[in-house]
Amino acid sequence: MPKWPPHWTEITDSAVLAAIARVPRHRFVPVEHQTEAYEDRPLPIGYGQTISQPFVVALMTQLLELTPMSKVLEVGTGCGYQTAILAELAGEVYSVEVVAELSKRAGETLDGLGYRNVHVSVCDGWDGWPEFAPYDGIIVTAAAPTWPPPLIEQLSEGGRLVIPIGPAGWDQMLWLAQKLGGEVIKRQIAPVRFVPLVPDD
Ligand code: SAH
Repeated sequence: MPKWPPHWTEITDSAVLAAIARVPRHRFVPVEHQTEAYEDRPLPIGYGQTISQPFVVALMTQLLELTPMSKVLEVGTGCGYQTAILAELAGEVYSVEVVAELSKRAGETLDGLGYRNVHVSVCDGWDGWPEFAPYDGIIVTAAAPTWPPPLIEQLSEGGRLVIPIGPAGWDQMLWLAQKLGGEVIKRQIAPVRFVPLVPDD
């Protein structure tokens, strides 16, 4: 594991840190980037997509406040690294991805590492995965142009949604939303930069 830079002090949840320490990130990145797998930055995973920076994965995961009882939905499986971190902490993980090849590869990697509580599907994550809703946590790993109503709808009472919102490439904000008593309380967390969520059409 690398020496944590100062911003890692924001990650105070020891279960999240333990999950980051346990999951072998090099197994999720292409061979040509494996020597960089433990650097704290994003890396290309093919199809114009990137694996998120470990700090951002840790921060977003911490905001979900998962327990072994939690059912969580991830939008944007990518290489499956964030999925594995979720699978370490939650009961069941449902993860959707639009690029079929990425979903297939991620499914194989996760299976090879022995994760049995992960379910992947190829579909447009703007619509969530209604079949298994409601979710105690929903995490979106691509920037949405605006709040996706189906994801709010699929949150359980008390459920938390972590989502970057903003235009492609710039000026995105990471938000935390919580559904409480029928209301949705929203909080800005930090400026971020994600690949865009493929628009719904
Ligand atoms: N959590 C991933 C991050 C991958 S980048 C990882 O750690 O590897 C974001 C991913 O979101 C990409 O794989 C991209 O293909 C996917 N994506 C983009 N738009 C999407 C949509 N509408 N529905 C589902 N997945 C989407």
